[in-house]
Amino acid sequence: MIKLKKYKYYILMAVLCFLSFFIVFKLNYSETEKELKNLNYTSKAIKLIIENNLANYILNNNIYSETLEAALIKGYYNKKNLDLYVDLEYKDYDKYVYHLNELKKIGYKNDEINIIINHLNEEEIEIIINKQEKLNNLSYFIIDPYFNPDYLKRYYSYKNKYNNYEFGKIISHVNMNLDLNFYEVIDIIENPNDILVLVNKYNQLPNDYIPENLVNINIKCAINHHMFTIKEVKEAFEEMCMDLKSIGLNIKVLSAYRNYDSQMKLYTRYVERDGEEAANTYSAKPGHSEHQTGLALDVKNNTLSFTEFDKTLEYTWLKSNAHQYGFIIRYPKNKEHITGYKYEPWHLRYVGIETATEMLEQDLTFDEYYSKKKYRRN
Ligand SMILES: [Zn+2]
Repeated sequence: MIKLKKYKYYILMAVLCFLSFFIVFKLNYSETEKELKNLNYTSKAIKLIIENNLANYILNNNIYSETLEAALIKGYYNKKNLDLYVDLEYKDYDKYVYHLNELKKIGYKNDEINIIINHLNEEEIEIIINKQEKLNNLSYFIIDPYFNPDYLKRYYSYKNKYNNYEFGKIISHVNMNLDLNFYEVIDIIENPNDILVLVNKYNQLPNDYIPENLVNINIKCAINHHMFTIKEVKEAFEEMCMDLKSIGLNIKVLSAYRNYDSQMKLYTRYVERDGEEAANTYSAKPGHSEHQTGLALDVKNNTLSFTEFDKTLEYTWLKSNAHQYGFIIRYPKNKEHITGYKYEPWHLRYVGIETATEMLEQDLTFDEYYSKKKYRRN
């Protein structure tokens, strides 16, 4: 044995201790790295996991989280949100983790954040974040298939006013503008030639709009020779009218296409007679009448006045068969608050067979049908 002086012996022991400690530590370290790699973390992420003391947590729970990895790599990692990163699936856009952090900061719970990020796109999430306050029951609005983030403020103020309405009803009403007074906001219609054009108290036809292909309706199916409609509607209506005749029933058109000026005269006359408020419940302001589209027909039978049309066999038949010819009863009973008009059993609107059938099956007014189509989220 080599004889050493005492102090040299101590130095040697210290060096050996240090070396063995270093080797054990290094081995351990690479073992950790290896295990993290097996979980699928990239080297860059592994370095950050170790630096942030997350290795034990990750390995003990056997977690691979792409969201956590992105948080670390993109520099958005906030240790208070660790459970959120681990809970939520990754979405592949730059500001994703930033959005998670912001939503958490505003006060949303993990499950609410999950709903937000799974139902809304990047721009829509920004709208929620920009509110900078936690909105109550936001998830109930968001999961509705017709939710439109641009109307958030209106949804909430309508819900405040009608607290007993379900969230779906709030959304449906606001999407149809029913939170606003009739005629309060008016859009000029851009597609007046479309068979599915929506004309109501919020949507106005251009003043000078005249439909193409106006043709007159066969006298067998009209009260005189001056009833005009567009060709497609004429054909569908005459077919329906003749089929009715074949079973001993009669319908005749008593008002069809009306131009802007004649609607103006009609409306003005009603306002003078009954006052504006009352007139608005049954007559459209010029530009807001479906009759200006050439797609609407008022009908009666041979015996009763048109106002009593719902007492007729013809009406009973139309209610369950008109859709087969593409017609709907545009202003039904108990839907006055949606259509903005009193019940008008005599007013038919052409929308085509497919739409008419769908509307009947789902018991929708045209206003509802149109809005659902417009706002349906994928
Ligand atoms: Zn009418």
